[in-house]
Amino acid sequence: MKTVGIIGGGQLGLMIAQQARGLGVRTVALDPASDAPAFAACDGRIVAAYDDAAALEELCRQCDAVTYEFENVPGEVLIPLVEKYNIPQGFRPLYDSQDRLREKDNARKHGFDTPEYRPVDSEEALRRASAELGFPCVLKTCTLGYDGHGQVVLRSEEDIPRALPLLAVSCILEAFVDFDFEVSLVMVSDGCQVVVFPIGRNIHRDGILDLCFVPAAGVSPELAARMQAAGRDFMLQCGYVGILAVELFVKGDRFYFNEMAPRPHNSGHWTIEGCSTNQFRELVRFLVGLPLEEPRLIAPTVMKNILGQDLDAARRIAAEGHERVFVHLYGKSESRPKRKMGHITFVGSDAAGYAGRWSDEFVK
Ligand code: AMP
Repeated sequence: MKTVGIIGGGQLGLMIAQQARGLGVRTVALDPASDAPAFAACDGRIVAAYDDAAALEELCRQCDAVTYEFENVPGEVLIPLVEKYNIPQGFRPLYDSQDRLREKDNARKHGFDTPEYRPVDSEEALRRASAELGFPCVLKTCTLGYDGHGQVVLRSEEDIPRALPLLAVSCILEAFVDFDFEVSLVMVSDGCQVVVFPIGRNIHRDGILDLCFVPAAGVSPELAARMQAAGRDFMLQCGYVGILAVELFVKGDRFYFNEMAPRPHNSGHWTIEGCSTNQFRELVRFLVGLPLEEPRLIAPTVMKNILGQDLDAARRIAAEGHERVFVHLYGKSESRPKRKMGHITFVGSDAAGYAGRWSDEFVK
C-alpha cells in the first residue's frame, strides 16, 4: 500500500486524504495545529511547523510521494528535500507562483495573455506606472496576497496616497481588466498527459470565491477549447507535473491569466460530485503513478462556499437531505466570518435555480 504525504492539513489536505482512501492509498499530513481538518481523514499525522526541517524530513521518510496543499511552503526547507525524496511537483511551480511579478512574467513567457503590468517599489514608480497604464489600475503586493488582501484598486490619481502603505514591500501595478467574468482551469499532468477539468465560472463575494458554475455560461465550446489548450501547453512548456489551477479573466472572446496555484483549488471542489473523476483523486493518482483519467462532466453543477457566517444556512440545507445536494463541512474547530468552513455542491439540471434559492438563504 502506498503512502502520500501532505504538507498542510487544511480542507484541501482533508479532501486529498478522503480521495486517497478511496484509491487504497494511505496519507500522512503535517500541520502545526493538532486539530487540523485533514487529520480526521489521514492515517498518520505530524504536528509541526511548516519550516521544521526535521519534521518535514520525517514526513518524507514515511511516504512514497509528498505533495503540498498551500502555496507558501518556504523554498529553504523544500529544496533540500526535493533533492532527496519523491516530491514530484518540486519547488518550481511554488517558486513561480509565490511572487506575482514572477508569476505574470512566467505566464506571458509560456503563452498566456495577462493584464498589462509594471513592477513598482516607490511612490515615484507608482505615479509613473499609473500614468503609463491609465486608471483604473490595481496595485498588489508581489507576495503573500490572497483573497483580495494586499491589493488596492486605484480609480484616479487621488487614490494614490491610500495605496502607499502597500509599498512597504515590492508591488506590481496591473491595468484594470473590465472583464465579463472569471473562470478557472484546473489541470493535472503526469508530464505526458494533461487532463483538464471542465471550466467553471466563478463569482466572488468580498474578494472570496462564493459560487462556481459549471458549465461556465458565456464560454463557447470554441473558447473553452482554446483555454484548455493554452492551459495544457502552459503545463507542458513549464514542465509542471501534478496539479495546477489557473484563474482567468474573460473579456469577449479573449482571456487573461490572473494567477495560479500548484495545488487543488477551491474552484475545483465541484468536481467531487459533478465530474466522473475529481481534482483530488487525479492528484493522488498522479502521485502514486496511476494513469490519469480524463474527467467528464456528469451534469450541470454549482458549488457554493460556506464561510463562517453561512454555517447556519448550510446546516439547514444539509438537514433537508436532498439527494443531489452535497454538504461538506471541514470540521474546523473555530468559525469566523469569512473563514472557509465548508462548501455545498448541487448537481443536476436545476443546479442554477437552486443556487438562486441559496442566495436568499445566505447572509449577504
Ligand atoms: P487576485 O488576488 O489577484 O486573484 O485578485 C482578487 C480579485 O480582484 C480578482 O478575482 C478580480 O476580481 C479582482 N482583480 C484582480 N486583478 C484585477 C485586474 N487586473 N483587473 C480587474 N480586476 C482584478
